[in-house]
Amino acid sequence: MIYLDHNATTPLAPGVIAAMLPVMTGVWANSSSQHGPGQEAKRVLATARATVARVLGCKPVEVIFTSGATESNHLAVRGLLAGAAPGRQRVLFSRVEHSAHLRLAKALAAAGVEVDFFPVLPCGQLDLVAAKAMLGPDVALVSMMAANNETGVLMPVAEMADLAHAAGALLHLDATQFIGKLPFDFVHFGADAVSLSAHKFRGPKGVGALLLRQGAPLVPQSLGSQERGRRGGTENLPGIVGLAAALDLLGDLADEAARVAQLRDSLEAGLQNALPTTHVWCQSQARLPGTSYLRFGHLSVDVVLQRLERLHVAASSGAACSSGGSEPSHVLRAMGVPDDEALAAVRFSLGATTTPEDVAYVLRELPPLLAPLLQDELTLT
Ligand code: PLP
Repeated sequence: MIYLDHNATTPLAPGVIAAMLPVMTGVWANSSSQHGPGQEAKRVLATARATVARVLGCKPVEVIFTSGATESNHLAVRGLLAGAAPGRQRVLFSRVEHSAHLRLAKALAAAGVEVDFFPVLPCGQLDLVAAKAMLGPDVALVSMMAANNETGVLMPVAEMADLAHAAGALLHLDATQFIGKLPFDFVHFGADAVSLSAHKFRGPKGVGALLLRQGAPLVPQSLGSQERGRRGGTENLPGIVGLAAALDLLGDLADEAARVAQLRDSLEAGLQNALPTTHVWCQSQARLPGTSYLRFGHLSVDVVLQRLERLHVAASSGAACSSGGSEPSHVLRAMGVPDDEALAAVRFSLGATTTPEDVAYVLRELPPLLAPLLQDELTLT
C-alpha cells in the first residue's frame, strides 16, 4: 500500500517502538508512588519532559502531557477562559479550525460564552485585518491553528500573537499539523499555549501535550495531582516516552521538509500535466511540505477515492462524512469555494515514508483511470 495520508496519522517510527518497549515491560509503576519502581517511573517521566522541552524550545515546567491534541485544545481554551478576568470572556476562533475544535467553539457558545469566528481569505490565509478589527478589550483568548490540516496553508502566527497581545488577549496555537513537519520553537512563535499530538509525527496515538507559557493563568479541567495539578490522571508513561522519542528522532527538519515538498510538487505538476482540469488549492501559498489539496475537474471525491483504493493508494477526502452523506469541507466553504467543487476535494499528504517511487506509481497509474471519467464530464457539460 502507498500511504499518502500523513496528515491523518503517521506510522510509528522503529526508534519510537524501541524506546517504548522497555517502558511497557519494565517501567510500569506509578510515577506518583514513593517506592523505588515509582521513583524510577518518575525519573523516566522527567527525562521525557526534558527532551520535549529541549526539542520544542520551552521549559520542562511548561510541558503538560495530555491524551492528544483534542484534549490539549480543550484544556487550553476552557482552562485559559476560566482563568481570564471577568471582563474578558470572549473567545475568537478562525473559521478553518479542525472540526473537533469547532465543536468546542459551538459547545462554548451554546453554554453562553461569547464566541466569534474570524474569516479567511479566498487564498486560505487568515484575514488579519478582520481579526484585528474583532479584537477588543473583552477578548480573553484567540485560538487558531499553525497550519491547516486540509489545505496545508501556514498561518501568520507571529502577526496574530502580536495583535492578540497588543489587545491584552492570549494566543492558543493548535500546532498539531505543524510540529514534526517544520522547525518549531515555542518562544519564537510567541503563543501562550500550544497543542500537539504525537501520532502526527510518528509517535503513538492517544498522547500529546499542551505547552503552556509559565505564568499563563490556566484553570485545570481534570483535577488531580499530576502535571503539577494542571491535568489530573496517571500519566501514560510509554506514550509519553514515545512522544519524546518521536520528537528527538525528527533531526534536521529543514532537509526533510525540502525533500517532501519536492515530492509533493512533482506529484502536483505530474497530475496537472496529465489531467489539465486538475485544480490545486492554495498552491501559491506557503504550505506544509507534504500537503496537496486538489480536485480533478468536478469528479466526486468518492469516485476518485475508489480508484485510488483499487491502486492500493491511501489518500483522503476533504469532506466530512456524516450519517446523511458527505458535507463539503468547512475550510473550502470558508474560502468561498462552491459546494460542487468542494465535494470533489482530495487530500494527498506525503511524509517521512514517501518515496519518489510512490509518486511515480501514482503518476503512472492514476491518470489513465481518471482520464475517461473526466472526458465524460466534459461531454456532459
Ligand atoms: N487539530 C488539528 C489541526 C488536527 O489536524 C487534528 C487531527 O487531525 C487534531 C487537532 C486532533 O488531534 P487528535 O485526534 O490527535 O486529538
